[in-house]
Amino acid sequence: MGSQSRHLLYLFDIDGTLLDAHGSGRGSFDEVMLERFGVANASEGVRYGGKTDHAIIEEIFRARLGRSATTAERAEFLAAYVPRLTAKLAAGGVKVLDGAVAALDWLAPRARLGVATGNIREGAEAKLAAAGLAGRFEVGGYGCDSAVRAELVARAIARAGTLDEVIVVGDTIHDISAARACNATVCAVATGSDTAEALAHADVVFRSLTELPAWHAARYAC
Ligand SMILES: [Mg+2]
Repeated sequence: MGSQSRHLLYLFDIDGTLLDAHGSGRGSFDEVMLERFGVANASEGVRYGGKTDHAIIEEIFRARLGRSATTAERAEFLAAYVPRLTAKLAAGGVKVLDGAVAALDWLAPRARLGVATGNIREGAEAKLAAAGLAGRFEVGGYGCDSAVRAELVARAIARAGTLDEVIVVGDTIHDISAARACNATVCAVATGSDTAEALAHADVVFRSLTELPAWHAARYAC
């Protein structure tokens, strides 16, 4: 049975997997923390890879202010974040990672394509647009769906409807654990913040997305 009749869904992480936004997200978080909450260098020592926007806000508030952000503060934070992110993306550009466009082109007639990202939806769409990848994904799970990555992956899967198999593609151990929690196959790609060794418990580890089409062809016989 070919994969076209198998109802496969690929869910791509964004940062470190499809693109490198040159720290635009981190820089925007730091600007908001300084301008709205009076905290300089708020991200120092905070790892962003694989985490959701809400989880990062929580980590920063706990580390710098010793408390959680209120619901109102989160809303204020994210409202201030989006225009800063958009401006930074426009100024600094985005690097589309090796093999990403070719892999998406190759998969498009063979599987359904979505995103599963810790970015809130507006942030995800801004990054994808800056990378020239807007309009390639029919479904998504986002950081605004849940602070917990496994839950936003589950939301993306639920939005896709009937499926035989879900394949999560991501660059961190958090992508792997979220995929496992959703019974998804997981392809790790060592183009982001975690090393190939750290990612070795994925179903497969790619050095870059250039390796994805051959893996798919061998696994699904198309
Ligand atoms: Mg990532």
